[in-house]
Amino acid sequence: MSDLTRLSAAALAEQLRTREVTSVEATQAHLDRMAAVEPAVHAYLHVAADSALATAADVDARRAAGEDLHALAGVPIAVKDVVVTRGVPTTVGSKILEGWVPPYDATLVEKIKAAGLPILGKTNMDEFAMGSSTEHSAYGNTHNPWDLERIPGGSGGGSAAAVAAYEAPLAIGTDTGGSIRQPAAVTGTVGVKPTYGSVSRYGLVALASSLDQAGPCTRTVLDAALLHELIGGHDPRDATSLPDPATGYVDAARAGATGDLTGVRVGVVRELQGEGYQPGVLARFEESLELLRGAGAEIVEVSCPHFTYALAAYYLILPAEASSNLAKFDGMRFGLRVEPSEGPVTAERVMAATRGQGFGDEVKRRIILGTYALSAGYYDAYYGSAQKVRTLIQRDFAAAFEAADVLVSPTAPTTAFRLGEKLDDPLAMYLNDVATIPANLAGVPGMSLPSGLSDDGLPAGFQILAPAREDARLYRVGAALEALLETSWDGPLLGRAPELDGGAAR
Ligand code: GLN
Repeated sequence: MSDLTRLSAAALAEQLRTREVTSVEATQAHLDRMAAVEPAVHAYLHVAADSALATAADVDARRAAGEDLHALAGVPIAVKDVVVTRGVPTTVGSKILEGWVPPYDATLVEKIKAAGLPILGKTNMDEFAMGSSTEHSAYGNTHNPWDLERIPGGSGGGSAAAVAAYEAPLAIGTDTGGSIRQPAAVTGTVGVKPTYGSVSRYGLVALASSLDQAGPCTRTVLDAALLHELIGGHDPRDATSLPDPATGYVDAARAGATGDLTGVRVGVVRELQGEGYQPGVLARFEESLELLRGAGAEIVEVSCPHFTYALAAYYLILPAEASSNLAKFDGMRFGLRVEPSEGPVTAERVMAATRGQGFGDEVKRRIILGTYALSAGYYDAYYGSAQKVRTLIQRDFAAAFEAADVLVSPTAPTTAFRLGEKLDDPLAMYLNDVATIPANLAGVPGMSLPSGLSDDGLPAGFQILAPAREDARLYRVGAALEALLETSWDGPLLGRAPELDGGAAR
């Protein structure tokens, strides 16, 4: 039997369908892989071995009985710890939720369970999904499987690292400002932020409700399409859920994989390149554009002048919404409760002590920023102005999508930086999000896929953006580029920290 952890989800699903392997074998192979590499990678906060194996055994029994199963039935998956899971701890990377065991499942978890995918565990993340390196987790760093001294991106560094280190073929991430796409870029994996409203937010611990969106983290574009179809679709429990069914992504990925993009107009966003972008990242980007041109795509340049202000607007809107969303962590209802060490035990003093101890510095920074931006007298100047910029960015997208079917840019300006490198400089950390944030502000879908290795030997990300509700275009163009680059995870892109495989660098 080949190493089951090396297969794409689609390939593993096929072997399960033909009963060449069982889900128990596949799940156990991933648990063994985790046991071997977790001490070095630390992608997971919680491993759910028993329940994963129980699900796997159940799926195997149902398959043996001839039951008609979901295409991904039996394929194991990891879930970011911002998604609530019944009976399984959910910390959001924060001390304030330590010990909290949710009494219900997020809608996307219900769908995963109904389809019979064993959930391997919950993945590490920056506290409350605030960060670009996973260093803000209250439970220790995740290490980039390509170079253990480097960050795996954030906030969903755990999901991306798990997939990159073969600790799961599929993972769930959430993307409020880039937390699926930027980790994908720096770990050489594929990440998709669906159209806002495409995947239910019911059961995601909210960071910024107008920006949050869950999506797939995978090693191939086809796997992302399969997972997006599984978790997407209308949910009456999410007031901002779209009525659209989640269909057509797999077909689009299969069509794209033929490598024919005749007539597709690809718009290069002038504002998302140049100064601040690593030369090797730009070089891989340019080469990918040439491949798309060779496949019949028409490459045009578009300008989105207000993207220059996206970062500033985001870092007002996000803290404003987060300061409101995080008010519920008060020491009364969920997780941690700290009583003041001296003096009277009043509600206010318990809240102050709990929040003072339970939240980390980055979360406190954003609560303070957001509360300030919303305060009387400053609301119009800060929050109000940021919302106006948001409208201008939406108009930039609308104009650009008149000229192009998809827009493209590097996903992140750099490859994975070193652990600790930007930890003391919040602004430098925020700047890693310049290219991913516009999509969240406008609600449009985006994908990151590897465009090869930069000069430093680390993966560079290629970002594709499409109009809202046109997520299928991401899969078509993404699958085409993946095929043209021949750098899928079975190809020359593959290379990881030699320590992870007993010194055998590839
Ligand atoms: N880096 C972004 C931030 O810190 C990512 C947030 C996200 O997508 N969850 O806000």
